[in-house]
Amino acid sequence: MRRFIVAGNWKMNTTKDTGSQLAQALAAEVPKEKTAVEVLVCPPFPYLSTIGDIVNGSGVGFGAQNCYHESPGAFTGEISTEMLSDVGCRSVILGHSERRHILKETDADINLKVKKALDAGLQVVLCVGELQSERESEQTEAVLDTQMTGGLEGVNSAAFDKIVIAYEPVWAIGTGLTATPDQAEAAHQYLRNWLKDHYSAEIADSTRILYGGSVKPDNAKELLSQENVDGALVGGASLKAELFIPIIQAAV
Ligand code: PEP
Repeated sequence: MRRFIVAGNWKMNTTKDTGSQLAQALAAEVPKEKTAVEVLVCPPFPYLSTIGDIVNGSGVGFGAQNCYHESPGAFTGEISTEMLSDVGCRSVILGHSERRHILKETDADINLKVKKALDAGLQVVLCVGELQSERESEQTEAVLDTQMTGGLEGVNSAAFDKIVIAYEPVWAIGTGLTATPDQAEAAHQYLRNWLKDHYSAEIADSTRILYGGSVKPDNAKELLSQENVDGALVGGASLKAELFIPIIQAAV
């Protein structure tokens, strides 16, 4: 039985005040005791400590949106996994499409980060997904294969209790376009089979695969009711408690 995850990726949004208010509203709403849904927020780096203090002891976890693959040292402007752990962060999003396509991160870069984060004991939310042109030219599965192979190179089975995959078709991120439930399910099924072929049936069965791409309260239930969809990675709608809470509730 896979436990759902609903994760909010705040991206480069919020201020200390608006982020704090959002975190307070979520912490007040999400039950403290373990429920069927794991809830996570991923604020910008400067607010991690503040948000971490607010959600501490609540049912809301917090994670980062990126990390660097080296241990602390002379890497100006970067953030280490040690720093994330130091502020109580337990998860990190890696390979988000904005980092792949705007910041030009390669699968090799992402793979180094995945391995470093896993070594540090962090939960990794590894994002994969195709561009619109790749979908139109029927390259979706080839792209997912490349990103899974590249991102997970050298990662062994034992690490999978800390790995979550997020399928995020790039054409659906922040655009208002959403994959249909059938499109999402087909990609998730492909990813689950990929895990079976490259790891094992047990890992394929137990690994959570989230959908991300313009998830909103009105489409969450249908997407989340697909057999191979184990939750959502939410961008825009995670910035408003009145939108994010119904998405969490849709997963219950
Ligand atoms: C995201 O940033 O991961 C995302 C899915 O964004 P949005 O929900 O805004 O499409």
